[in-house]
Amino acid sequence: SEDLLRITGLSTRFFTDEGQVNAVSDLDATVERGEVFGIVGESGSGKSVTALSIMDLVESPGEITAGSIEYRNADLAADVREDHPEAVDGEFVDLLGVTSSVRRSLRGTAFSMIFQDPESSFNPTLTIGEQIAEAVEVQRRASATPRLSRGVEYSFASLMASTVLGSKKFVTAESRERAIELLELVGIPDPVKRAEEYPHEYSGGMLQRAMIAQALAGEPDVLVADEPTTALDVTIQAQILDLLADLQEETGMTILLITHNLGVIARMCDRVGVMYAGEIVERGTLADVFDDHVHPYTEGLLGSVPDLERVGDRLRPIPGNVPSLLDDEMDDRCYFADRCPKAMDACLDHPPSYDARGEEHAARCVLAEMDYDESRALPEGYFGEGE
Ligand code: SF4
Ligand code: MG
Repeated sequence: SEDLLRITGLSTRFFTDEGQVNAVSDLDATVERGEVFGIVGESGSGKSVTALSIMDLVESPGEITAGSIEYRNADLAADVREDHPEAVDGEFVDLLGVTSSVRRSLRGTAFSMIFQDPESSFNPTLTIGEQIAEAVEVQRRASATPRLSRGVEYSFASLMASTVLGSKKFVTAESRERAIELLELVGIPDPVKRAEEYPHEYSGGMLQRAMIAQALAGEPDVLVADEPTTALDVTIQAQILDLLADLQEETGMTILLITHNLGVIARMCDRVGVMYAGEIVERGTLADVFDDHVHPYTEGLLGSVPDLERVGDRLRPIPGNVPSLLDDEMDDRCYFADRCPKAMDACLDHPPSYDARGEEHAARCVLAEMDYDESRALPEGYFGEGE
Protein backbone atom coordinates (compact mmCIF):
# COMPACT_ATOMS: atom_id res chain seq x y z
CA SER A 1 0.00 0.00 0.00
CA GLU A 2 1.13 3.56 -0.61
CA ASP A 3 1.33 6.50 1.74
CA LEU A 4 -1.58 8.88 1.35
CA LEU A 5 -0.68 11.33 4.12
CA ARG A 6 2.74 12.13 5.51
CA ILE A 7 2.59 14.31 8.58
CA THR A 8 5.93 15.58 9.82
CA GLY A 9 6.78 17.77 12.80
CA LEU A 10 3.24 19.10 13.12
CA SER A 11 2.84 21.61 15.95
CA THR A 12 -0.37 23.46 16.76
CA ARG A 13 -0.38 26.18 19.43
CA PHE A 14 -3.10 28.22 21.05
CA PHE A 15 -2.11 31.75 22.00
CA THR A 16 -4.38 32.38 24.97
CA ASP A 17 -4.45 35.07 27.64
CA GLU A 18 -2.84 32.61 30.01
CA GLY A 19 0.00 31.94 27.62
CA GLN A 20 0.96 29.64 24.80
CA VAL A 21 -0.70 26.21 24.93
CA ASN A 22 1.19 23.48 23.10
CA ALA A 23 -1.80 21.41 22.02
CA VAL A 24 0.09 19.36 19.42
CA SER A 25 3.86 19.10 19.37
CA ASP A 26 6.20 17.75 16.72
CA LEU A 27 3.78 15.07 15.59
CA ASP A 28 4.87 12.56 12.95
CA ALA A 29 2.53 10.05 11.32
CA THR A 30 2.02 8.42 7.96
CA VAL A 31 -1.38 7.19 6.86
CA GLU A 32 -1.65 4.66 4.06
CA ARG A 33 -4.29 4.72 1.36
CA GLY A 34 -7.25 2.55 2.29
CA GLU A 35 -6.31 1.91 5.89
CA VAL A 36 -8.04 2.79 9.12
CA PHE A 37 -5.50 4.70 11.17
CA GLY A 38 -6.39 5.20 14.80
CA ILE A 39 -5.37 7.95 17.16
CA VAL A 40 -6.04 7.05 20.76
CA GLY A 41 -5.49 8.93 24.00
CA GLU A 42 -7.20 10.50 26.98
CA SER A 43 -9.24 13.66 26.57
CA GLY A 44 -7.01 16.71 26.26
CA SER A 45 -4.20 14.73 24.64
CA GLY A 46 -4.43 16.66 21.37
CA LYS A 47 -6.36 14.13 19.28
CA SER A 48 -9.08 16.51 18.14
CA VAL A 49 -6.65 19.36 17.52
CA THR A 50 -4.66 16.99 15.31
CA ALA A 51 -7.83 16.22 13.33
CA LEU A 52 -8.72 19.91 13.04
CA SER A 53 -5.17 20.67 11.90
CA ILE A 54 -5.46 18.11 9.11
CA MET A 55 -8.85 19.54 8.11
CA ASP A 56 -7.59 23.15 8.25
CA LEU A 57 -10.26 23.92 10.84
CA VAL A 58 -8.04 25.27 13.62
CA GLU A 59 -9.53 28.57 14.69
CA SER A 60 -7.99 31.60 16.32
CA PRO A 61 -6.31 31.80 18.84
CA GLY A 62 -5.05 28.45 17.53
CA GLU A 63 -2.45 28.23 14.82
CA ILE A 64 -0.35 25.58 13.14
CA THR A 65 3.15 26.81 13.87
CA ALA A 66 5.38 24.14 12.33
CA GLY A 67 5.48 21.01 10.26
CA SER A 68 4.05 19.69 7.04
CA ILE A 69 0.97 17.69 6.08
CA GLU A 70 1.72 16.11 2.73
CA TYR A 71 -1.19 14.64 0.81
CA ARG A 72 -0.71 12.41 -2.22
CA ASN A 73 -2.88 13.63 -5.07
CA ALA A 74 -1.32 13.83 -8.53
CA ASP A 75 -4.02 16.12 -9.94
CA LEU A 76 -3.68 18.55 -7.09
CA ALA A 77 0.11 18.47 -7.42
CA ALA A 78 -0.22 19.37 -11.10
CA ASP A 79 -2.69 22.17 -10.27
CA VAL A 80 -0.57 23.89 -7.65
CA ARG A 81 2.95 23.17 -8.92
CA GLU A 82 3.27 26.45 -10.77
CA ASP A 83 2.15 28.65 -7.88
CA HIS A 84 3.63 26.69 -5.01
CA PRO A 85 6.62 24.76 -6.33
CA GLU A 86 8.08 24.44 -2.85
CA ALA A 87 4.90 22.70 -1.61
CA VAL A 88 5.05 19.95 -4.23
CA ASP A 89 7.16 16.81 -3.96
CA GLY A 90 6.29 14.39 -6.74
CA GLU A 91 2.61 13.50 -6.26
CA PHE A 92 2.58 14.95 -2.74
CA VAL A 93 1.37 18.44 -1.87
CA ASP A 94 2.18 20.02 1.49
CA LEU A 95 -1.21 21.33 2.58
CA LEU A 96 0.49 23.86 4.85
CA GLY A 97 2.24 25.36 1.83
CA VAL A 98 -0.80 26.21 -0.31
CA THR A 99 -3.35 29.02 -0.03
CA SER A 100 -6.37 28.68 2.21
CA SER A 101 -8.65 28.74 -0.83
CA VAL A 102 -6.92 25.61 -2.14
CA ARG A 103 -7.34 23.99 1.24
CA ARG A 104 -10.99 24.96 1.41
CA SER A 105 -11.57 23.43 -2.00
CA LEU A 106 -10.30 20.11 -0.62
CA ARG A 107 -12.76 20.09 2.26
CA GLY A 108 -15.53 17.67 1.44
CA THR A 109 -13.95 16.48 -1.80
CA ALA A 110 -10.62 15.20 -0.46
CA PHE A 111 -11.12 15.36 3.31
CA SER A 112 -14.40 15.06 5.19
CA MET A 113 -14.98 15.01 8.89
CA ILE A 114 -17.61 13.54 11.16
CA PHE A 115 -18.04 14.40 14.80
CA GLN A 116 -19.41 13.02 18.03
CA ASP A 117 -22.49 15.20 17.89
CA PRO A 118 -24.37 14.90 14.59
CA GLU A 119 -26.86 17.57 15.55
CA SER A 120 -24.22 20.23 15.05
CA SER A 121 -23.91 19.18 11.40
CA PHE A 122 -27.54 19.80 10.52
CA ASN A 123 -29.82 22.78 10.32
CA PRO A 124 -32.97 21.94 12.31
CA THR A 125 -35.21 23.83 9.90
CA LEU A 126 -34.34 21.93 6.72
CA THR A 127 -35.04 18.32 5.85
CA ILE A 128 -32.22 15.80 5.97
CA GLY A 129 -32.62 15.06 2.26
CA GLU A 130 -32.41 18.73 1.37
CA GLN A 131 -29.23 19.21 3.40
CA ILE A 132 -27.48 16.20 1.96
CA ALA A 133 -28.55 17.25 -1.54
CA GLU A 134 -26.97 20.63 -0.84
CA ALA A 135 -23.73 18.97 0.19
CA VAL A 136 -23.81 16.98 -3.05
CA GLU A 137 -24.46 20.17 -5.01
CA VAL A 138 -21.66 22.09 -3.33
CA GLN A 139 -19.19 19.28 -3.97
CA ARG A 140 -20.30 18.94 -7.60
CA ARG A 141 -19.73 22.62 -8.22
CA ALA A 142 -16.44 22.56 -6.35
CA SER A 143 -15.10 19.73 -8.46
CA ALA A 144 -16.40 21.38 -11.64
CA THR A 145 -14.43 24.51 -10.74
CA PRO A 146 -10.69 24.42 -11.34
CA ARG A 147 -8.99 24.27 -7.98
CA LEU A 148 -6.77 27.18 -8.70
CA SER A 149 -7.01 29.30 -11.79
CA ARG A 150 -4.41 32.00 -11.77
CA GLY A 151 -5.88 35.27 -10.61
CA VAL A 152 -9.33 33.85 -9.93
CA GLU A 153 -10.15 33.24 -6.30
CA TYR A 154 -12.70 30.51 -6.10
CA SER A 155 -14.82 31.23 -3.08
CA PHE A 156 -16.28 28.25 -1.33
CA ALA A 157 -18.01 30.56 1.15
CA SER A 158 -19.96 32.46 -1.49
CA LEU A 159 -20.89 29.23 -3.21
CA MET A 160 -22.06 27.84 0.10
CA ALA A 161 -24.09 31.00 0.80
CA SER A 162 -25.80 30.98 -2.59
CA THR A 163 -26.60 27.33 -2.24
CA VAL A 164 -28.08 27.66 1.20
CA LEU A 165 -29.99 30.86 0.52
CA GLY A 166 -31.53 29.62 -2.67
CA SER A 167 -31.56 25.96 -1.87
CA LYS A 168 -34.78 25.15 -3.68
CA LYS A 169 -33.53 26.79 -6.83
CA PHE A 170 -29.97 25.56 -6.71
CA VAL A 171 -30.35 21.93 -5.73
CA THR A 172 -30.94 19.89 -8.86
CA ALA A 173 -33.04 16.76 -9.15
CA GLU A 174 -29.83 14.78 -9.65
CA SER A 175 -28.45 16.01 -6.34
CA ARG A 176 -31.69 15.04 -4.63
CA GLU A 177 -31.48 11.58 -6.14
CA ARG A 178 -27.88 11.26 -5.07
CA ALA A 179 -28.86 12.29 -1.54
CA ILE A 180 -31.35 9.43 -1.41
CA GLU A 181 -28.70 7.02 -2.71
CA LEU A 182 -26.34 8.21 0.01
CA LEU A 183 -29.00 7.72 2.69
CA GLU A 184 -29.52 4.22 1.37
CA LEU A 185 -25.77 3.58 1.34
CA VAL A 186 -25.51 4.40 5.04
CA GLY A 187 -28.40 2.10 5.91
CA ILE A 188 -31.29 4.52 6.42
CA PRO A 189 -34.44 2.45 5.87
CA ASP A 190 -37.03 3.85 3.46
CA PRO A 191 -34.67 6.66 2.36
CA VAL A 192 -37.17 8.31 0.00
CA LYS A 193 -39.52 8.95 2.90
CA ARG A 194 -36.82 9.64 5.49
CA ALA A 195 -35.23 12.23 3.20
CA GLU A 196 -38.32 14.39 3.73
CA GLU A 197 -37.92 14.35 7.51
CA TYR A 198 -36.26 16.92 9.75
CA PRO A 199 -33.26 16.21 12.02
CA HIS A 200 -35.43 16.01 15.16
CA GLU A 201 -37.36 13.12 13.62
CA TYR A 202 -34.17 11.03 13.47
CA SER A 203 -32.82 8.95 16.36
CA GLY A 204 -29.20 9.55 17.44
CA GLY A 205 -27.92 6.56 15.50
CA MET A 206 -29.89 7.49 12.38
CA LEU A 207 -28.65 11.06 12.56
CA GLN A 208 -25.09 9.74 12.85
CA ARG A 209 -25.70 7.74 9.66
CA ALA A 210 -27.08 10.84 7.97
CA MET A 211 -23.99 12.81 8.97
CA ILE A 212 -21.84 10.09 7.44
CA ALA A 213 -23.93 10.32 4.24
CA GLN A 214 -23.37 14.08 4.20
CA ALA A 215 -19.63 13.59 4.68
CA LEU A 216 -19.53 11.13 1.77
CA ALA A 217 -21.31 13.53 -0.60
CA GLY A 218 -18.03 14.64 -2.18
CA GLU A 219 -16.52 11.14 -2.30
CA PRO A 220 -13.59 12.09 -0.08
CA ASP A 221 -10.25 10.29 -0.04
CA VAL A 222 -10.00 10.62 3.72
CA LEU A 223 -12.76 10.51 6.31
CA VAL A 224 -11.68 11.97 9.63
CA ALA A 225 -13.92 10.57 12.36
CA ASP A 226 -13.54 12.26 15.76
CA GLU A 227 -15.16 10.10 18.46
CA PRO A 228 -17.92 9.15 16.01
CA THR A 229 -19.68 6.75 18.35
CA THR A 230 -18.92 8.14 21.79
CA ALA A 231 -22.37 9.65 22.33
CA LEU A 232 -24.24 6.51 21.27
CA ASP A 233 -25.31 3.49 23.25
CA VAL A 234 -23.28 0.32 22.86
CA THR A 235 -25.50 -1.48 20.33
CA ILE A 236 -25.75 1.55 18.08
CA GLN A 237 -22.01 2.19 18.44
CA ALA A 238 -21.30 -1.28 17.09
CA GLN A 239 -23.67 -0.70 14.16
CA ILE A 240 -22.03 2.60 13.23
CA LEU A 241 -18.55 1.06 13.44
CA ASP A 242 -19.70 -1.79 11.20
CA LEU A 243 -21.10 0.76 8.78
CA LEU A 244 -17.79 2.66 8.69
CA ALA A 245 -15.89 -0.58 8.11
CA ASP A 246 -18.25 -1.57 5.28
CA LEU A 247 -18.04 1.86 3.66
CA GLN A 248 -14.27 1.77 3.92
CA GLU A 249 -14.21 -1.57 2.15
CA GLU A 250 -16.70 -0.53 -0.53
CA THR A 251 -15.24 2.85 -1.37
CA GLY A 252 -11.56 2.25 -0.53
CA MET A 253 -11.48 5.51 1.38
CA THR A 254 -9.00 6.06 4.14
CA ILE A 255 -10.30 6.59 7.67
CA LEU A 256 -8.55 8.50 10.40
CA LEU A 257 -10.34 7.36 13.52
CA ILE A 258 -9.95 9.36 16.71
CA THR A 259 -11.11 7.82 19.94
CA HIS A 260 -10.36 7.39 23.61
CA ASN A 261 -11.66 3.84 23.33
CA LEU A 262 -9.11 1.08 22.79
CA GLY A 263 -11.89 -1.39 22.05
CA VAL A 264 -12.84 0.74 19.04
CA ILE A 265 -9.20 0.82 17.94
CA ALA A 266 -8.87 -2.96 18.30
CA ARG A 267 -12.00 -3.53 16.28
CA MET A 268 -11.41 -1.04 13.48
CA CYS A 269 -7.80 -0.06 12.91
CA ASP A 270 -4.82 -1.29 10.94
CA ARG A 271 -2.33 0.98 12.64
CA VAL A 272 -2.50 3.27 15.62
CA GLY A 273 -0.81 6.26 17.22
CA VAL A 274 -1.06 6.72 20.98
CA MET A 275 -1.23 10.40 21.97
CA TYR A 276 -0.18 11.93 25.25
CA ALA A 277 0.29 15.61 26.03
CA GLY A 278 0.16 16.62 22.38
CA GLU A 279 2.63 14.03 21.15
CA ILE A 280 2.31 10.62 19.56
CA VAL A 281 4.24 8.66 22.16
CA GLU A 282 3.97 5.28 20.47
CA ARG A 283 2.86 4.20 17.03
CA GLY A 284 2.76 0.99 15.06
CA THR A 285 0.53 -1.79 13.87
CA LEU A 286 -2.17 -3.06 16.20
CA ALA A 287 0.09 -5.98 17.11
CA ASP A 288 3.00 -3.63 17.87
CA VAL A 289 0.93 -1.45 20.14
CA PHE A 290 -1.24 -4.09 21.82
CA ASP A 291 1.30 -6.89 22.20
CA ASP A 292 4.77 -5.36 21.92
CA HIS A 293 4.39 -1.87 23.33
CA VAL A 294 7.35 -0.14 24.86
CA HIS A 295 5.92 3.07 26.31
CA PRO A 296 4.62 2.84 29.88
CA TYR A 297 1.72 5.11 28.92
CA THR A 298 0.57 2.58 26.33
CA GLU A 299 0.91 -0.08 29.00
CA GLY A 300 -1.20 2.03 31.32
CA LEU A 301 -3.90 2.60 28.72
CA LEU A 302 -4.13 -1.10 27.97
CA GLY A 303 -4.17 -1.92 31.65
CA SER A 304 -7.00 0.53 32.16
CA VAL A 305 -9.39 -1.23 29.80
CA PRO A 306 -11.37 -3.98 31.45
CA ASP A 307 -12.20 -5.89 28.29
CA LEU A 308 -10.98 -5.03 24.80
CA GLU A 309 -13.77 -7.01 23.18
CA ARG A 310 -16.34 -4.69 24.62
CA VAL A 311 -16.56 -1.58 22.51
CA GLY A 312 -18.58 0.30 25.08
CA ASP A 313 -15.91 0.12 27.76
CA ARG A 314 -14.40 3.38 28.81
CA LEU A 315 -10.88 4.00 29.91
CA ARG A 316 -10.28 3.88 33.60
CA PRO A 317 -8.04 6.79 34.40
CA ILE A 318 -4.35 6.28 34.94
CA PRO A 319 -3.44 7.79 38.31
CA GLY A 320 -1.90 11.25 38.24
CA ASN A 321 -2.66 14.34 36.26
CA VAL A 322 -2.21 15.14 32.61
CA PRO A 323 0.59 17.73 32.53
CA SER A 324 -0.09 21.37 31.82
CA LEU A 325 0.31 22.14 28.15
CA LEU A 326 1.19 25.76 28.91
CA ASP A 327 4.53 26.37 27.26
CA ASP A 328 5.84 28.20 30.34
CA GLU A 329 5.16 25.17 32.50
CA MET A 330 6.55 22.53 30.15
CA ASP A 331 10.12 21.51 30.84
CA ASP A 332 12.42 19.77 28.44
CA ARG A 333 11.76 16.28 29.66
CA CYS A 334 9.39 13.38 29.21
CA TYR A 335 5.88 14.75 29.82
CA PHE A 336 4.74 11.42 31.25
CA ALA A 337 7.46 11.31 33.90
CA ASP A 338 5.19 12.43 36.78
CA ARG A 339 2.87 9.49 36.21
CA CYS A 340 5.37 6.95 35.01
CA PRO A 341 6.28 4.06 37.31
CA LYS A 342 9.51 3.54 35.36
CA ALA A 343 10.75 7.14 35.37
CA MET A 344 14.46 7.55 35.94
CA ASP A 345 16.94 10.42 35.89
CA ALA A 346 17.48 10.15 32.14
CA CYS A 347 13.79 10.88 31.60
CA LEU A 348 14.15 14.30 33.22
CA ASP A 349 17.28 15.31 31.32
CA HIS A 350 15.81 15.81 27.89
CA PRO A 351 12.63 15.06 25.92
CA PRO A 352 12.91 11.49 24.64
CA SER A 353 13.18 11.18 20.88
CA TYR A 354 11.37 8.63 18.78
CA ASP A 355 13.21 5.38 18.77
CA ALA A 356 12.23 2.88 16.13
CA ARG A 357 11.62 -0.69 17.24
CA GLY A 358 10.81 -1.93 13.78
CA GLU A 359 9.78 -0.62 10.40
CA GLU A 360 6.57 0.94 11.67
CA HIS A 361 6.88 0.67 15.39
CA ALA A 362 8.36 3.56 17.33
CA ALA A 363 8.10 4.96 20.83
CA ARG A 364 9.08 8.22 22.43
CA CYS A 365 10.61 6.88 25.64
CA VAL A 366 14.09 6.30 26.98
CA LEU A 367 13.14 2.65 27.45
CA ALA A 368 12.88 2.31 23.69
CA GLU A 369 16.60 3.02 23.53
CA MET A 370 17.32 0.33 26.10
CA ASP A 371 16.91 -3.41 26.05
CA TYR A 372 13.52 -4.06 24.56
CA ASP A 373 12.47 -7.02 26.70
CA GLU A 374 13.52 -5.31 29.88
CA SER A 375 11.17 -2.48 29.11
CA ARG A 376 8.08 -4.61 28.93
CA ALA A 377 5.60 -5.97 31.42
CA LEU A 378 5.16 -3.62 34.33
CA PRO A 379 4.74 -5.24 37.72
CA GLU A 380 1.12 -5.98 38.72
CA GLY A 381 -0.72 -3.12 40.33
CA TYR A 382 1.52 -0.31 39.09
CA PHE A 383 -1.42 1.56 37.71
CA GLY A 384 -3.76 0.53 40.50
CA GLU A 385 -7.30 -0.59 39.93
CA GLY A 386 -8.60 2.67 38.48
CA GLU A 387 -11.97 3.99 39.51
FE1 SF4 B 1 8.57 6.79 31.65
FE2 SF4 B 1 10.99 7.72 31.21
FE3 SF4 B 1 9.70 6.50 29.25
FE4 SF4 B 1 8.94 8.91 30.09
S1 SF4 B 1 10.87 8.40 29.08
S2 SF4 B 1 7.63 7.19 29.66
S3 SF4 B 1 9.32 8.79 32.26
S4 SF4 B 1 10.39 5.60 31.19
MG1 MG C 1 -11.69 15.47 21.50
